[in-house]
Amino acid sequence: MRIALKITLALTLWTIGVLAVTSERELDHEFSLIEEDLAEALVLIGRSLAPVLEDAWVRGGPERVEQLTRAAYSSEQAVHLRWYPPGLAPSDGAGLAAAHARAVAGETQTVRWPDEGEPEAIVTYVPLHHTDGSVATIELRRSLDVRRAFAERTYRQLWLTAAVIGVCSALMAVGLGWLLVGQRVGRMVGLLRAVGRGEKARPLPTRAHDELSELTVAMNQMVEDLEDARARSERESAERERLTQELRHTDRLATIGALMSRLAHELGTPLNVIAARTKLVARGQVDGEAAIANARIAAEQTDRITAIVRSFLDFSRRSRESQRFAPAVAVVEHIEALLGGLARERHVELVVGTRCDAHIRGDLLLLQQAVTNLVVNALDVSPPQTRVTVDVTTVEVEPPPGRGRPGRYVCITVGDRGPGIDPEVLPHLFEPFFTTKDPGKGTGLGLSIASGIVQEHHGWIAVSTDKGTGTQFMLHLPIADAES
Ligand code: ADP
Repeated sequence: MRIALKITLALTLWTIGVLAVTSERELDHEFSLIEEDLAEALVLIGRSLAPVLEDAWVRGGPERVEQLTRAAYSSEQAVHLRWYPPGLAPSDGAGLAAAHARAVAGETQTVRWPDEGEPEAIVTYVPLHHTDGSVATIELRRSLDVRRAFAERTYRQLWLTAAVIGVCSALMAVGLGWLLVGQRVGRMVGLLRAVGRGEKARPLPTRAHDELSELTVAMNQMVEDLEDARARSERESAERERLTQELRHTDRLATIGALMSRLAHELGTPLNVIAARTKLVARGQVDGEAAIANARIAAEQTDRITAIVRSFLDFSRRSRESQRFAPAVAVVEHIEALLGGLARERHVELVVGTRCDAHIRGDLLLLQQAVTNLVVNALDVSPPQTRVTVDVTTVEVEPPPGRGRPGRYVCITVGDRGPGIDPEVLPHLFEPFFTTKDPGKGTGLGLSIASGIVQEHHGWIAVSTDKGTGTQFMLHLPIADAES
């Protein structure tokens, strides 16, 4: 609609401009015709008066002529009459003096007054001949006020016409513009906004046969294509999500599988303790306080077995959790029960620090899987008699570009005293299927899955490694508060 208004405004201005130029030329033409008519009329009047005045001059002398011309001048005539006796000439302009001189020479003269600029009057000099041979003149002066009045009237008419054209055009532009353009463009804008908001949009009607209809058809087609693409992309992303969950679950089962052989060994020690202690009580070898102490030890070992089995079961189950508000240390609580056996087998000390009171929000099982993958890698590279540390703290840090604002984050650090990571391996660390382990030993998925999980929780993993001294993986997560 605004375009229609602009076009109409431009057309109206153009029309008014053309009207003004043609009217100006027309007016000039009219003016010259008026001037010609007036000049002819003055000459006619002058020539008609000349014989009468000549006769009065001869008979009554200059006084009589003066008297007659003054009488004519004093009356309310449009033509002003004045007589110049011999030897007298007009003094209000060189052009008039020259015309008068030519009239004295015997030729009737008509000129405009003043000589330069916009003329105010037409002046005619007619010679009067005396019988004694002297020559006087009469001056006939006609004001051009009639011309100014005509111009004013014409300009008034022109502006009125322009105003009528302008108002009519604007009204038509608003009406037709709304009907033919504004309404339809409005619908198109509505359609595009709905598509932008991700709503399902109904195609627009395309009844008319004009450019806007072509645009509407193209837009309907585009919306339809977008709908298809969105549906396809939703299907693909659902499938991708399903496959990711599947892959993560497979990764968990692979970790469990690798740890399974140690499970029996893990359970062996507490079972032996339980058996020995309960036998002592059963055989009556201990009683009273000693029997109670033995029963308490047996109960503690049962709790340990329960914790180990629960850790394995929890870890192997499929994640059904959504985002949960939990203490950050909950992400590492399972490590001891799950990987303690593996660490002992490797003669590596596994130290898990749980003295952080910050909270996070997320899927605990997935986050536990991410940390487990880091600890399994650390244990894999740790030489015997060294230590793998898992620590939960908060740090003031600037995230990598695009991962959030600088500030305080939860940081779960997994450190080892292994051989460190080669600089050429570092850029590929988080690539899926990248492994430096022997065939059959590594899948190359542990770090890529861990990094995917952490990114889903708006965090990131940083690595610090030193050839010979070991590696630290730092898993960063946003700190959450209960309301967030
Ligand atoms: P995988 O353990 O199956 O090889 P990952 O994605 O977990 O797959 O690890 C990829 C590679 O990263 C490993 O093969 C290893 O070369 C390197 N890596 C991971 N953690 C460490 C570590 N703590 N110290 C040295 N290298 C490591």
